[in-house]
Amino acid sequence: MNYQLSEGESRQLVFDSYVLHAHAQTCLGCGSTERYTQIYEVWVHPTKSIQNLRPVAGTINSAKPIYQVAVKPRAIPVCVACATISVYQSAPDNVIPVSREAWAETLRRKYAPQAAETKVAKATPTKVVPTLDEI
Ligand SMILES: [Zn+2]
Repeated sequence: MNYQLSEGESRQLVFDSYVLHAHAQTCLGCGSTERYTQIYEVWVHPTKSIQNLRPVAGTINSAKPIYQVAVKPRAIPVCVACATISVYQSAPDNVIPVSREAWAETLRRKYAPQAAETKVAKATPTKVVPTLDEI
């Protein structure tokens, strides 16, 4: 669905329903399966075969139908249990549970500019540090 909507088409879309994507991912470390969902608004064009999915934030309109679709299962290297609880013997040793604050501090340290070794002024490219919300 890589169709690029024109501005006119985008304005003509009508909110039709919701679609709930049900995900299942199996951890290659411990074998457990994690499940989570993502819900989107489904906007359709009244005359063209165009639809647009928009992530839902907040509450939903209970008068609209919710279609549930099982997304193809996938394998992941580390699951939440491996990463946060480490109760499984097969959990990787290099998984280090940290709080959001500790992780933000770790990122700050990793991306902190090195102390200047020379006094020659030069332009340095700005690094883009992802925020926790983007991870
Ligand atoms: Zn796991």
